[in-house]
Amino acid sequence: MNRSHESSTRAPWSANRLGLNYREEAKRLGAPPCPIIDVHSHIHGLRAAEVYREVRDLYGVSSTYSMSRLSEVPALQELFGDSMRFIAVPEFMAEDRKHAHTQGFLDSIEGFHGRGSRIVKFWTAPRSRDYGKEAGDPLLLSLDNEWRQRAMDLADSLGMMFMAHIADPDTWFQTKYTDASFYGTKAQQYEPFERALEAHPSPWIAAHMGGWPEDLAFLDGLLSRHDNLYLDTSATKWMVRELSKHSRDEFISFLSKWAGRILFGSDIVTMDEHLIEDDDPAKLKAGQASGREEAFELYASRYWALRTMYETNYDGESPIADPDLAMVAPERFDDMAAPRLQGMNVPKELLRSVYRDAARDLLDSWHADHP
Ligand SMILES: [Zn+2]
Repeated sequence: MNRSHESSTRAPWSANRLGLNYREEAKRLGAPPCPIIDVHSHIHGLRAAEVYREVRDLYGVSSTYSMSRLSEVPALQELFGDSMRFIAVPEFMAEDRKHAHTQGFLDSIEGFHGRGSRIVKFWTAPRSRDYGKEAGDPLLLSLDNEWRQRAMDLADSLGMMFMAHIADPDTWFQTKYTDASFYGTKAQQYEPFERALEAHPSPWIAAHMGGWPEDLAFLDGLLSRHDNLYLDTSATKWMVRELSKHSRDEFISFLSKWAGRILFGSDIVTMDEHLIEDDDPAKLKAGQASGREEAFELYASRYWALRTMYETNYDGESPIADPDLAMVAPERFDDMAAPRLQGMNVPKELLRSVYRDAARDLLDSWHADHP
């Protein structure tokens, strides 16, 4: 594939199948009905963070919550000031994985708290069982694990709320997670979560529409059962693919019923490796950027797709390739295939809730109450 970095009309690639000019597109979309708070991102690398900042400014995102490495937090705070807050995470890349998710996690939580973080993230996706198994315990990252209970107790004592990644797309349960005796069924992922929601009454933000955007009725039940539960809309490919399948009426009535408890998030991941210009096939396959312009497009594509879904009447293919399509139906799709993106034209009042007010009401008051 020719990935020319000089030409202005760039070859279509996984973050821009449609050859959009994401700078012009941001102008065309115009300012959102209010500045957007992105409650879910992973900002790594200072040079990549600067690219992200350009994207954020163009697309009307005024503040960001990021799961960055603790060691990068001071520099990011210098770059973003008060407009970036941090979510405490364990050191996933640590050599001593067991330590990183036991005592090391408790230390990280204290460190993040000292840097102003008031949210602790628990990643407990089904594939965390593979990750845990490599460290000797498939349930190392389960919410029922004793060390995770300790982490929750510590968070409670420090006045921190919770974020959790519970489940993955239905497409993954149809393909990667067919061994339910090891991974559990999708419904089973929610059992430890519902126990944790009961045991720790502080607010919980369940990432990626609670992990089940495919099933709004399930989410409705979950939100009804737990007053301390909030959802974020992050994971752009997944959200675009699955939320676009609901009718506009269903989607809007879900958003209005639960207004105040649904928070905008993107799950944008930045890293300095994106800025290196190379043609590493592994990078290409993973849809990763190669060079500054691709990094820009990779990050911009997420805000473009989410805002287009929420704000417009667009009805066409997503500009972002979605490899889940080929994973489920390899005879019908290739790696560059993309799903339908349905513009939901969400009323402005409701958009302001999802984009800003729900996050502000929850997080600003939490920060004020837990200085
Ligand atoms: Zn994430």
